[in-house]
Amino acid sequence: MNKVIVLTGAGGVLCSTLAIALAEQGHKIAVLDLRKAAADNVANEIKAYGGTALGIMANVLEKDSLEAAKKIINDTYGKIDILVNGAGGNHPLGTTSNPFLETEDLLNKTEGFKTFFDLDPKGIEFTFNLNFLGTLIPTQVFATDMVGRDDCSVLNISSMNAFTPLTKIPAYSGAKAAVSNFTQWLAVHFSKVGIRVNSLAPGFFLTDQNRTLLTHADGSLTQRGQQIIDQTPMQRYGNPEDLIGPTLWLCGEGAKFVTGVVVPIDGGFSAYSGV
Ligand code: NAD
Repeated sequence: MNKVIVLTGAGGVLCSTLAIALAEQGHKIAVLDLRKAAADNVANEIKAYGGTALGIMANVLEKDSLEAAKKIINDTYGKIDILVNGAGGNHPLGTTSNPFLETEDLLNKTEGFKTFFDLDPKGIEFTFNLNFLGTLIPTQVFATDMVGRDDCSVLNISSMNAFTPLTKIPAYSGAKAAVSNFTQWLAVHFSKVGIRVNSLAPGFFLTDQNRTLLTHADGSLTQRGQQIIDQTPMQRYGNPEDLIGPTLWLCGEGAKFVTGVVVPIDGGFSAYSGV
């Protein structure tokens, strides 16, 4: 082992868990995030347990910022072996208020109520850029180190809404479908130079990003939160730790003939028709 692994968005909930788990395997970890303090916190936690990590501020949408991060990583640890593209998220301007359009929604419109017709292209653009370009650009920068070397790979983070879109979030669903599609495209494109490319498709994980959508202040489930549990055969939300096993597998020796796959980690959500 002892690989050099870069994770973007690693100050966040899911990828901080992955960064710590990969550090526990003895890898050298570069924790990248737009929020420098969040990146530093995760790197410090890894170091406190005797691991090796650097916290670095980097914007996945700015090549210069990623090139500067790469120089620090190369100078400190050498060439990069593995990239986890974890930065991503949704934007409220790309989200409708209700799952279905009703005629009355257009007749009795209240302030702030958003139908499909009110979606702001700026919200759609933000979401597509962050999830799709925010996966493509870091791969352009960091995967140059991997060409022609053994045991190198890229792990993207898609979502189970890439298989079937979730109501209310057309931009995020479409952007994650683009990430899954890109995972397959890049796996084929990189197949001759020894870089494997795969993707995790997490289901519902209760995080700060979606907590108010899925739970009330007292912790009980909202209607949408209950609907998700009813549609999940395993009857629970995911824990960030549920992503560790699939990540170690896809980034490790055991997956050396695996490339171009999108692995759902969703308690059966995407397999269940509801009947
Ligand atoms: P999170 O919001 O906790 O973490 C995302 C991190 O990305 C944050 O620390 C944020 O600062 C960082 N970030 C945002 N914009 C950035 C930019 N331009 N450059 C660099 N960093 C940036 O979210 P999370 O729940 O940990 O999600 C991680 C990934 O998993 C995302 O791609 C998300 O879309 C995906 N995902 C999450 C869930 C879920 O239920 N939480 C489900 C499916 C997929």
